[in-house]
Amino acid sequence: MNELLQTFITTWLPHNVQAAMLRLDRLHPEIQGNKWFKLKYNLEAAQQAGKRAILTFGGAYSNHIAATAAACRMAHWPCLAVIRGERPPVLSHTLAKAEADGMELLFISREAYRDKQQTDWAALFPDHYIVPEGGHNDLGARGCEDILDLAHTTYTHLFCAVGTGTTLAGLVNAGRGEIIGISALKGALSLQHDVQALLKPGHAANWRILHDYHEGGYGKINANVIGFMNDFFRQTGIPLDGVYTGKMMLAVKKLAETGYFPAGSQLLCIHTGGLQGNLSLAPGVLCF
Ligand SMILES: *Cc1c(COP(=O)(O)O)cnc(C)c1O
Repeated sequence: MNELLQTFITTWLPHNVQAAMLRLDRLHPEIQGNKWFKLKYNLEAAQQAGKRAILTFGGAYSNHIAATAAACRMAHWPCLAVIRGERPPVLSHTLAKAEADGMELLFISREAYRDKQQTDWAALFPDHYIVPEGGHNDLGARGCEDILDLAHTTYTHLFCAVGTGTTLAGLVNAGRGEIIGISALKGALSLQHDVQALLKPGHAANWRILHDYHEGGYGKINANVIGFMNDFFRQTGIPLDGVYTGKMMLAVKKLAETGYFPAGSQLLCIHTGGLQGNLSLAPGVLCF
């Protein structure tokens, strides 16, 4: 299984640098990527707490919503998701699939969503176990520590894409070497603190978040990103998503081109999945 999950992509990089990609996109057809790792200990905790259902939060294209709906269907958990914005006449493919998986959708206005911390959801839904938006909590980070159990090579640099920072925190807690998160958000400098809050004392890794590779902001998928994703696929056979992993690998390429990696560096890039999000792109823009 490990061999299937890890692909060498060295020929794609210039200079004297080796790179491999850990293909979490191939873990499971529906719950791919990092989202399963963020959910697994949360679902266990829900069971231990004697809860009867799951409650979570997300937007119309959220990979977390997609993964939670599929995971709950398979584990026979009823689940409710609070969704940002009014219910549209036609649901996004993500929400349509989530509903088909049995997830109940509760639409609230964007303003109410932004202020959702002010609502006491636990009091409103006492039978529900609450998984925060994006799976961002200690148990989410703990699950992401297990990602590195699947890696079977040494590395000097570890890369992952950053949304809430939960995955990065898990990797820092379990990893070594230089761990670099590429932020998918524009100017989200508070991520530094969010990740720090999930770190174990005494972790050995040297980590940083790079903020200059969002290509216009969260969810903005410009022609540059699309062109890169197509090139990357032609050269490696690996599909990337436009929101996270496409921008992460574009950042790796730019860093390599500017000589960031000393000769002999061994990169391990985590493919955190998210391919369902590509369904929201116009048909035909991607070659895969
Ligand atoms: C959610 C997601 C991320 C971000 O993970 P965080 O733990 O929130 O930082 C990265 N890549 C993909 C494909 C995702 O779906």
